[in-house]
Amino acid sequence: MEYIEPIRRLPDGTIKQVNPFSGTQVWTVPGRGNRPIVSSAPAPHPITPARLDHYCAFCPGRYLETPPEKSRLLHDGDDWLTLTAVPAAELTATTAEFRRVPNLFEIMSVDYWEENHGYRPSAEVRERRRAYLAAPEGLAHVMQVARGKALASGMDPGKWESLSDDDRMAWARNFFDGGHDVVIARRHFVDGAEGENELASSGRLTPEEHFRFTHYTVDAMRELYDFAPDVKYVAVFQNWLRPAGASFDHLHKQLVAIDEVGAAAQREHDRVAANPNIYNELAVNYASDQGLILAQNSGAIAFAGFGHRYPTLEVFSTAPVAAPWEHSAAQVRAVSDLVHACHAATGAEVASNEEWYHQPRGFDVPMPWRVMLKWRISTLAGFEGSTKINVNTISPFDLHDRVLARLIELRREGAIAPMRLGAECTVEKDLLRYVSR
Ligand SMILES: [Zn+2]
Repeated sequence: MEYIEPIRRLPDGTIKQVNPFSGTQVWTVPGRGNRPIVSSAPAPHPITPARLDHYCAFCPGRYLETPPEKSRLLHDGDDWLTLTAVPAAELTATTAEFRRVPNLFEIMSVDYWEENHGYRPSAEVRERRRAYLAAPEGLAHVMQVARGKALASGMDPGKWESLSDDDRMAWARNFFDGGHDVVIARRHFVDGAEGENELASSGRLTPEEHFRFTHYTVDAMRELYDFAPDVKYVAVFQNWLRPAGASFDHLHKQLVAIDEVGAAAQREHDRVAANPNIYNELAVNYASDQGLILAQNSGAIAFAGFGHRYPTLEVFSTAPVAAPWEHSAAQVRAVSDLVHACHAATGAEVASNEEWYHQPRGFDVPMPWRVMLKWRISTLAGFEGSTKINVNTISPFDLHDRVLARLIELRREGAIAPMRLGAECTVEKDLLRYVSR
């Protein structure tokens, strides 16, 4: 494959980038960076105390507005405990730090899996459904959420009243299984918030809370690979604020099981097959040579990315394993601490997409677990559409300097976990060990 230099600096200061994995072309034109980033957070209206736990359907006072939980994570002193299949009558008996529920509107429905792949729910799923619906509170909960889903899909309330129980229950098909889950954090606002702009983003969790959030999501990802035999990939992502595609300003991640890896992953597969060390050579080694390294700890490294449509922070696991679920708790913690720090440095008011990438089950080439945090601060225009050349206002070097300065402050304040920053990092060649396992 022809080698294209990923970052080229032109005499006038223009920086042309090509992503070594996706081929995405990005130009940064001088004089357009360093503009202040526009806040995507809500206006700072005072929080109405009576609504505090009821701001959105993901808030803890509205447990009955999401489909039945697959599980919840509790925090008691130093202990973190997972409860599965909590009955409707016991939902308010404990407070979930994080909860995992089926997405009300799935990208790929249970019908899709059934009709295209002959999916059948397992005995365990059928038993959980039976037990939940056998309790009057459980049946009432499911019917209420099914009605909400039908009405949100455009059904007339009168029509719902005329439906048989079986027809109503058809709207709850994915409430006990399905391949699209949401992991929801407890807080909508930070503790003690007074304004509606003080949202509890990823960067405002403690490093410990962020680790539990990450680990719980890794567990859910591993489980979703077993949802159906034809699952080829489980996509994990977090949309933060509306410009990034979030329906609510309430912290949550999504997991979607899909039956193809997608063309982009297949292309990446072929590049890795030709050069298994590519993530060292064209990601971390290259970022280090360019002076883009931001942070490092015993199990992960973070740098300002290049060749992305949006300014992007990248965190790679350096552990000698590939898939997220092969990581030990300490190795997950290492990745989580750097992702948390990147979020904290980004700021809660910046809309972002957090995207996880990993070696799909069944791929015969090694790929490290990596997480990208993309700042959704610009809108694409006709130029990008017609040329496929993206114009980004913040170069990787501007991004590096801006984020590193903030990381140094955050570490001084004790708001992020201990880590080496900037010039303190010791990035020896081929730091990623996914390939040598
Ligand atoms: Zn909320």
